[in-house]
Amino acid sequence: MMPPRLPSVDSLLRHAACLPLLDRYGRPATLETLRGLLDDLRQGEPSQAAELSAEVLLGRVSERLHVQHQSRVRRVFNLTGTVLHTNLGRALLPEVAVEAVLAAARYPLNLEFDLATGKRGDRDDLIEGLIRELTGAEAVTVVNNNAAAVLLALNSLGARKEGIISRGELIEIGGAFRIPDIMARAGVKLHEVGTTNRTHARDYEAAINPRSGLVMRVHSSNYSIQGFTAQVPTAELAQLAHQHGLPLLEDLGSGSLLDLTRWGLPAEPTVRQALADGADIVTFSGDKLLGGPQAGLIVGHKNLIAKIKKNPLKRALRVDKLTLAALEAVLGLYRDPDRLAERLPSLHLLTRPPEQLLAQAGRLLSAVAQAVGQGWTVSVEPALGMIGSGSQPVARLPGAALCLRPQVSKRLRGRQLLGLEARLRGLPIPVLGRLDDDALWLDVRQLDDEPAFLAQLPGWAAP
Ligand SMILES: *Cc1c(COP(=O)(O)O)cnc(C)c1O
Repeated sequence: MMPPRLPSVDSLLRHAACLPLLDRYGRPATLETLRGLLDDLRQGEPSQAAELSAEVLLGRVSERLHVQHQSRVRRVFNLTGTVLHTNLGRALLPEVAVEAVLAAARYPLNLEFDLATGKRGDRDDLIEGLIRELTGAEAVTVVNNNAAAVLLALNSLGARKEGIISRGELIEIGGAFRIPDIMARAGVKLHEVGTTNRTHARDYEAAINPRSGLVMRVHSSNYSIQGFTAQVPTAELAQLAHQHGLPLLEDLGSGSLLDLTRWGLPAEPTVRQALADGADIVTFSGDKLLGGPQAGLIVGHKNLIAKIKKNPLKRALRVDKLTLAALEAVLGLYRDPDRLAERLPSLHLLTRPPEQLLAQAGRLLSAVAQAVGQGWTVSVEPALGMIGSGSQPVARLPGAALCLRPQVSKRLRGRQLLGLEARLRGLPIPVLGRLDDDALWLDVRQLDDEPAFLAQLPGWAAP
């Protein structure tokens, strides 16, 4: 059989259509991809390769290079209805924080340099003033996430001693974070008290002994205990711990800096209240209800924070300059609660009124119905969103969704739905919805960039 007549590598490299590829991807990658394509063609069906022009070949090289060089970190449309979606990056940063991150990335900064004295500084000092103002805490230290905050606080204050905790608070959070395991890794011996649904002050009291190092309270965040329940209020638990000379460590999980009921959201314990109730150390996330970057904040008594900062683990878990820059900017917005819902994206998204969402879905209805084509019923439906990130697992946010339902027999529906779901996931900006009740639901709460969404509609139709 005649070998296919393919152009030479050299001639293709010199071809005018190759110039933009060389310019964009560089010579080594372009050359390697070109050779790879020619090899594949030589090994494939000769008839397929024989008549390919240089333009067609370079077009294929361009496609391959594009796929290889596409960023793996991709923007997506989160139309799942879950606002603080852990798998989709949780909180979105406000513009002031984005600008702060850009500046911190571009220029040198006083990360650990005290501009007042000209001496070495401490990175925690950059946000300590704001945190004190916003929570009433004496001191603060920041680490990479709240899981790290819990690990570090436990290890610093309770290593080789017993940590007393209610059985109702031995929770697991997504990603294999389990309180008993974290305690063990922190070197704290778990001393569990009470029962899953009811724990009393006398249970804690009976557990306290000379080996006790701390009392711990964990906000149950991602699950809820209802019915015949009993929990010792933080104020009472703190009093009890202090009577025995033990610190009370409270992991709020999400926590909040302000009372969210002022925006019609379900009540979430605030950091200020936990401290006022007597918790000595409070830990919480930066990217849950706070609405900032991924971080774990540890706040509380000065002497305990000092002990935590001396732990060598602190150095291993510390945050970088970009996180601190974003965090400071986000915390700054909390100084003006009246405008917070306008300026902080997570709060803005959580508080969008249902009427506005129904109207938005209605506006998009006909364009979406047209894009998805025949064989689908598209309607605007009321939908219930969630806060996400384990905050208020039973609370629902009334909103609206575009509901796409295949008009085929029940037997074929699954495949139709999965096909559409995969096509939307394959768009340049993937569109992620929620499959439920034989339909694909696109919750519009987080659909802020309508032009970008509409521009992709031609890619929705089945091939
Ligand atoms: C989410 C959560 C954590 C972990 O926080 P990350 O910031 O995700 O590491 C720890 N404890 C509780 C109670 C939580 O809800």
